Amino acid sequence: MTISDKIKSSINSYISRNHIDRLDIKAALIDMDGVLYDSMKYHTLAWHKMMSEVGIECSREEFYLYEGMTGKATINLLFQRKYGRIAGEEEWRKLYEKKAEYFVEIGKKEVMPGANAMLQNLIDCGIDRVLVTGSAQNSLIKYIDSDFPSAFEPQKRITALDVTKGKPDPEPYLKGLEKAGVCHSNAIVIENAPLGAQAGHAAGCFTIGITTGPLSESDLYNAGADIVFDSMQSFADNLHLLLTLSQND
Ligand code: CA
Repeated sequence: MTISDKIKSSINSYISRNHIDRLDIKAALIDMDGVLYDSMKYHTLAWHKMMSEVGIECSREEFYLYEGMTGKATINLLFQRKYGRIAGEEEWRKLYEKKAEYFVEIGKKEVMPGANAMLQNLIDCGIDRVLVTGSAQNSLIKYIDSDFPSAFEPQKRITALDVTKGKPDPEPYLKGLEKAGVCHSNAIVIENAPLGAQAGHAAGCFTIGITTGPLSESDLYNAGADIVFDSMQSFADNLHLLLTLSQND
């Protein structure tokens, strides 16, 4: 199957599943960690270090599966497993603070290769951009403007602080649609994590998965991604084709 056939078939499935006439892309709702920044390897290390220190057994790999959840939700998931209860307010705040500290210590700020090309292509094609991240960590959010100049207007950002339910709940992406002022069939979601793809799918958006970490394409398809690319550069290179094919449909 050519890339063009693959894109066409994903658009057609989306259209028939949603009982709409066409996918008319006006906005892109864009995740941050693992999409704009190659940061998940550092997040998973920081989670593993913090949890191990407080005696909660876990593997580093499992945190790739929890990606997109809020810090509080991740802590509660591991608390349930270990203690059969959720963490108290003070407890989870302290642990999340520790994890955030380790992330700053361990992590290097690395822009995802292809992320700037992807954003520039969206800007050139007149597609609006909204940042939709499950993160509340200012250590990366504060660099968005300098690393991706004019990619995101200040009012077009959803962080963990703006939602009551994090991914996989559709709320972050539903709020993103509101910020863009468009309906679900006018937006694409750009995600690297299964729970994020699940959230984009549940919000009714055409969901694009990008494998930028150790998880496989099928992990993203199974979570509801409409199409999966194997790198941000490959998605950036095919963005024009996606927009053209959706218009011709
Ligand atoms: Ca992500």
